[in-house]
Amino acid sequence: MLIKDILLNIYECLYQHFGPRGWWPADTPWEVAVGAILTQNVAWRNVEQAIANLKEANLLGLQEMQLATEEEIASRIRPTRYYNTKARKLKVFVNYLTEQYAGELSNLWHQPLEKLRAELLNLWGLGPETVDSILLYAGNQPIFVVDAYTRRIFSRLGLLPEKVTYAEMQRFFMDHLPVEVELYNEYHALIDALGNQVCLNRAPKCHLCPLAEQCQGKTLV
Ligand code: SF4
Repeated sequence: MLIKDILLNIYECLYQHFGPRGWWPADTPWEVAVGAILTQNVAWRNVEQAIANLKEANLLGLQEMQLATEEEIASRIRPTRYYNTKARKLKVFVNYLTEQYAGELSNLWHQPLEKLRAELLNLWGLGPETVDSILLYAGNQPIFVVDAYTRRIFSRLGLLPEKVTYAEMQRFFMDHLPVEVELYNEYHALIDALGNQVCLNRAPKCHLCPLAEQCQGKTLV
């Protein structure tokens, strides 16, 4: 079977099992971008709490965040751990948008994707997963987001080596899947659901897994 068909078959199995994930859970593209920065190394429920705190303090808007100090932001995003570092990342991003894009997130999307991605990756504190999440989920740009769950699941399936890099994983999906924003959006969200609920690090629940039939790394209990 072609890799493309294998990947689409996995997608179908996951979609049938979990249903549409409705990503990204946010009210606006700007909130998506803030969530993508805050979610690094922390559970999503902590991000929700931090975003609620920012809303309550009227600090979630781009302009409001630009006027706020790092300390003010940090005090509202404490549930996300590393809150001082994340407050700094938010300020770096906000200042960049203010100075380069007239304070409008939507102005980013007029740039060619490769140029924009390189520009964002150049900002302090923004790694590829965060940048790609902003591009895909806030900007509807055709870029596939991968993460530790992707590595774990697809190496267990026998489709990627365990030590594969972020760039190699991303290339693998983008080389074989049709370039469709909706597919990229849903596929990453479904991988997240499997990695979070079923294909766990230490004790994967293979007996509950929709991919068990085709998985080389399944554990039979
Ligand atoms: S069968 Fe088990 S190891 Fe394979 S993807 Fe599913 S949960 Fe992970």
